[in-house]
Amino acid sequence: MARITLDHIRHAYGPNPKSDKDYALKEVDHEWTDGGAYALLGPSGCGKTTLLNIISGLLQPSHGRILFDGRDVTDLSTQARNIAQVFQFPVIYDTMTVYDNLAFPLRNRGVAEPEVDRRVREILEMIDLSDWARRKAQGLTADQKQKISLGRGLVRNDVNAILFDEPLTVIDPHMKWVLRSQLKRLHKQFGFTMVYVTHDQTEALTFAEKVVVMYEGEIVQIGTPAELFERPSHTFVGYFIGSPGMNVMPAKVAGSSVSVGEETINLDYAPDTARAARVELGIRPEFIRLGRDGMPVSISKVEDIGRQKIVRARFAGQPLAIVVPEDAEIPEDARVRFDPAAISIYADSWRVGREA
Ligand code: ADP
Ligand code: MG
Repeated sequence: MARITLDHIRHAYGPNPKSDKDYALKEVDHEWTDGGAYALLGPSGCGKTTLLNIISGLLQPSHGRILFDGRDVTDLSTQARNIAQVFQFPVIYDTMTVYDNLAFPLRNRGVAEPEVDRRVREILEMIDLSDWARRKAQGLTADQKQKISLGRGLVRNDVNAILFDEPLTVIDPHMKWVLRSQLKRLHKQFGFTMVYVTHDQTEALTFAEKVVVMYEGEIVQIGTPAELFERPSHTFVGYFIGSPGMNVMPAKVAGSSVSVGEETINLDYAPDTARAARVELGIRPEFIRLGRDGMPVSISKVEDIGRQKIVRARFAGQPLAIVVPEDAEIPEDARVRFDPAAISIYADSWRVGREA
C-alpha cells in the first residue's frame, strides 16, 4: 500500500498550453494517505480520468511529480508502479475462460497455482460468477464482462493502490449496491489505498471516507461527506452535493452583516470580502426554518419527496428551496429564518472562513 503524493501536477493534452483553459488539469497538489478510500467526484469532463491515468502511469503529466511513499515514480510505467486499474469499460481477454482472465494477473507475477486457485475462487464468489468459471469470456453480457474486469483489479493483494474509473456504469442497480459493499469490505480487510472515480454523489458518499470534488480541472474540496454537506468550500460543491443543492444568492457584506436584496442577517463574524468581485450567501435547503416569523417569502410550489417536502419559494427576489419534514405545517403567510451558523459566505465562489 502506498501514500500517494501529487506534487504540483498540471496537464494539457495539446501542445503549447498558454492559459488555464488549455489545461485539462489546472493544478493538483495534494497527498493521499496510505490505506485511504477516496472517491473522485465531479461532472463529466472535469478531469477525473486524466488524474487517474496520471496516478497509474498511463499518462505523463505536463508538469509536476507523482510520489509513492515519498519515492518519485513520475517516469515509471504502470507495471513498475504496481497499481491495479479498473476501467469504465471492460478490458478482458475474450478467448480466455472467466477463470483464466482472473488468474492472469497472478500467474503473470509468478504466484503459485494453489494460491492462484484460492484467490480466483474467492473473487468468483464475490462477483457472483462461480458457475461461469470455465466459460469463455466471449459471448458474456456487458455487465458480466465488467464484473470480470473488476475482479481482475481485485485479485492481487500486493498492489500499491487500486484505481477504479466509474467501474459500475454498465452494472444493474442492485448488483451495483452489492459490489460497492464488497469493495468496502475488501478495503477494510486489506487496507488498500483505493481511488474510486464517479460522477454520482450517492456512490461517492457511500463508498469513500474522503471525497475529492473536482470541477473544471481543479480539486475544489476534499472532505468527509459531512464536511462537504455542512461547509462547502466552493459554490460548485454546494450545488453538486445535496438534492436539491445549496441555495446560493447574490449578497452584500458590511462588517458582520450580510444582505440579500432588502433582507439583512447578522452573522457572528465579519467575512473578509473586500477584494471579491462577486459575493454570495449560501444556505442548504435543510437548514432553513419555515414558520410564522422571520423574513417574508412567497411560496410557489410544494413537492412531496417521501419523508420530506421541498418548498419552492422566492426570497428577496431570488429562488429559494426549503426542505421540511413531510408532516410540517406550511403557514399561509410563511416566513423564513436562516440560522447564522448554517450560512456560508462566498467570495468569487470560494468560501470565506471565520478566521479571515
Ligand atoms: P472526466 O473523466 O472527468 O470525464 P477527462 O479527464 O476524461 O474527464 O477529460 C478532461 C478534459 O480533457 C476534457 O475537456 C476532455 O475533453 C479532455 N481530454 C480527455 N482526454 C483527452 C485526449 N486524449 N486528448 C485531448 N483532450 C482530452
Ligand atoms: Mg472519465
